[in-house]
Amino acid sequence: MTPVSIDARPGIAGLTPDELVSWVEARGEPSYRARQIADAVWKDGGVTDAAGIRTLPAPLREALADAFRFDTVADTEIRLGDGGQTEKALHRLDDGALIESVLMHYPARGSSRERHTLCISSQAGCAVGCPFCATGELGAGRDLEVSEIVDQARHAQRRLALEDGRLTNVVFMGMGEPLLNLDRVLAGVEALNDPRRFGLGARHITVSTSGVVPGIRRLTALGPQFTLAISLHAARDALRDVLVPLNRRWPVAEVVAAARDHARSTGRRITYEATMIGGVNDTEADAAAMADLLRGDHAHVNLIPMNPVAHTPWSASPMSVIERFAATLRDAGISTTIRRNRGQEVGAACGQLAAERAGEPPVPAVARRRQRLEAESVRALRGERSGEPVPAGVGE
Ligand code: SAH
Ligand code: SF4
Repeated sequence: MTPVSIDARPGIAGLTPDELVSWVEARGEPSYRARQIADAVWKDGGVTDAAGIRTLPAPLREALADAFRFDTVADTEIRLGDGGQTEKALHRLDDGALIESVLMHYPARGSSRERHTLCISSQAGCAVGCPFCATGELGAGRDLEVSEIVDQARHAQRRLALEDGRLTNVVFMGMGEPLLNLDRVLAGVEALNDPRRFGLGARHITVSTSGVVPGIRRLTALGPQFTLAISLHAARDALRDVLVPLNRRWPVAEVVAAARDHARSTGRRITYEATMIGGVNDTEADAAAMADLLRGDHAHVNLIPMNPVAHTPWSASPMSVIERFAATLRDAGISTTIRRNRGQEVGAACGQLAAERAGEPPVPAVARRRQRLEAESVRALRGERSGEPVPAGVGE
């Protein structure tokens, strides 16, 4: 393996405006220089190196270059899918960690304006280990820095700016569990939301969680910052224990109770997501259980056909089954949509490219994993709860 050289300079986009002012003032420069630097960092996705800030005197540009990195996701490879409508970016971070972001373009339709949505990562890997998720199979990775989180958005914005485009939505639905890296995710959201920095309205930011209850409660105390999405996948504990191993720590009733309190306290509707897996969580009984669980809530459900992922015994539910599932929820008065998945040919289920690069695990290990998942899901369908422990590193 080639050794990785680790750059100790922090990413400049992770600094708050006050921190930037302090840095400028500590160098004996007038504070308006901080404003000039911030403009250069944030406008149209910003500059990727200090030399590009022509408004500053040369010595200050050099000092900035010595102190900070202007792009922490510089080493990026892009794959296009859906006829150019989906752009999947694989970012190699400074320590060699791989993360992904996916930019999806939606043309204007009827009364709805053109949208450009970016799906970003909050961690490199994920300790939660949902078995249908490529990131989950990678296992625990590291938390991303604030700059690494927001630089994914700056990177996409620079690409969009080439065609006068503007990022309209950011969703934390890439790699990692955002609520297990909550301080940095909150600082990232603040930077994305701040009109003096990225300037994206709070209503245009969504954070998705697999159900870290203390994190949800902390968000509720802070008030509405963004749309909260909960990855539900199953309304019954036995099955959810298998699909979202975190459920063994915080069972579905606790997750939904926290989400309900969040909706009540912030006035914001909760989005629930369910990845639809053929013959596993798409039965009539599952639809009825989900309808019972969410009936009367200020909630919206998104049903998403499972993206094909290696090393699972499963695949997407047929569309007719998803439509029937949706009808059961709608009959219970729950607003429900079916989301078409994007970018299958570029492996747009986040974590897939990074998993590919991590290399193929040994054949017997893959066979054992498939058998275990098959057996666990069959047991779960009979209503038996899993005896497996809570994944290490989560839920303390
Ligand atoms: N960790 C957070 C956010 C990242 S995952 C969470 O789980 O909510 C974002 C979404 O992608 C989740 O709803 C997750 O269930 C979904 N997802 C993961 N793998 C998928 C796959 N193979 N097909 C479809 N959706 C998938
Ligand atoms: Fe982690 Fe979300 Fe993937 Fe589950 S679905 S393993 S929580 S990234």
